[in-house]
Amino acid sequence: MDISTYRLIQEEAVRAKAQLVIVSKTRPLEKIQAYYDAGHRVFGENRVAELVEKEAALPKDIEWHFIGHLQSKKVKSIASFVSLIHAVDSEKLLREINKQAAKHKRTIRVLLQFHIAKETSKYGFELDEAVKILTRLDLAALQHVELAGVMGMATYTDDDEQIQQEFQALVDAFNFLKNRFFKEKSAFKEISMGMSGDYPLALQEGSTMIRVGTLLFPS
Ligand SMILES: *Cc1c(COP(=O)(O)O)cnc(C)c1O
Repeated sequence: MDISTYRLIQEEAVRAKAQLVIVSKTRPLEKIQAYYDAGHRVFGENRVAELVEKEAALPKDIEWHFIGHLQSKKVKSIASFVSLIHAVDSEKLLREINKQAAKHKRTIRVLLQFHIAKETSKYGFELDEAVKILTRLDLAALQHVELAGVMGMATYTDDDEQIQQEFQALVDAFNFLKNRFFKEKSAFKEISMGMSGDYPLALQEGSTMIRVGTLLFPS
């Protein structure tokens, strides 16, 4: 744990009216508990089995975010407790989340992941694909998911200008969808972008949620 780095990042996030999600993937329980004891409640994991284990072992008032690629068949393992799923990248996954949330009489908040990086290996929608799906879907029929915004990952690079352009592309996608589909929906408000290497740029470009791991767990 690095409490001074934590306080610093937390301060920067608050100043930008953004939320800090501590990415605790691969980190042991006691290191997560230390941040919990310091008052933090929002943590992100990217593997289902690991998240299920940690949820069972740690305090119940933690708000768990799933930040990685999620397979439809694994949604049921986390549907009873997950608070936000950051990386919805298919209609199939969206429908499965709705179905599993219904079983638990819950509504699960989700973000649509967009492919903004130049790298080809990353998941996510292109804008026209998302528009097609949202046009076709009867969103009102999906009563157990709440579309809460968008998420993206910039290219891993030192080129700040490129990262900035990619973040701007995500903000543009958010604004377009907000206008077209969610004008009256105050719940659609999140732009999840920014990690250890690029969160200051993300905050500058309008992130509402930064996902930071490495910086907070010095080895
Ligand atoms: C691991 C991960 C992060 C955190 O990355 P750091 O560089 O460790 O801060 C953020 N978002 C996603 C989707 C991740 O998988």
